[in-house]
Amino acid sequence: MAANLARLAVSAQEAESPCRIKEGHTIEAEFLLGRRKFTTMATIRASCSDCGDVELTTQDVQVRICDDNNQGTYSFRCPHCRMTVVKPAETRTIDLLVASGVSFTTWRLPAELNEAHSGEPISHDDLLDFHHLMHDDSKLTAALAEFING
Ligand SMILES: [Zn+2]
Repeated sequence: MAANLARLAVSAQEAESPCRIKEGHTIEAEFLLGRRKFTTMATIRASCSDCGDVELTTQDVQVRICDDNNQGTYSFRCPHCRMTVVKPAETRTIDLLVASGVSFTTWRLPAELNEAHSGEPISHDDLLDFHHLMHDDSKLTAALAEFING
C-alpha cells in the first residue's frame, strides 16, 4: 500500500494527569495518509503510558479545543488496557488530527474564573467539615435552617 507518511513529535507539557503523562514525556503521532479519503485511511499511532505505542483509527480519537485559549487535547481509550488517555497537543497536531477526520468539540473556561471572589479559599478542613455534615441529618437540617434564616 503506497502511503505518504507524516510524522510529528510533540512534547507533553502538562503535569501528571489521570492518564499519567510524565512531564517532558515525548509522544509521537504518526499519520499514514493513503490515496483514499483521510477519514477512512488515517491510522494514528499514539502512546499509552502503560502499554506503549498503540494504533488507532480516526474514530478512536476525540479532540477537544478550548475556545478561550485555543489549547487542545486529544483522547482515546487504549485498546489494550482500556484506560482513557488524554494528552495535550500543539496546534499543528490538533490541526492534523482534525484534517484526518478526527471529530472535535470545543469548550469554554467556566465563567466563575472571571468572578470576583472574597473570603478565604476552601480548605481541606472545610471539606472534611462539609463531609461530616452531609452524614448527619440533624446537623445538616440545622445548618440549612441557619443558612435560610440568615
Ligand atoms: Zn494502555
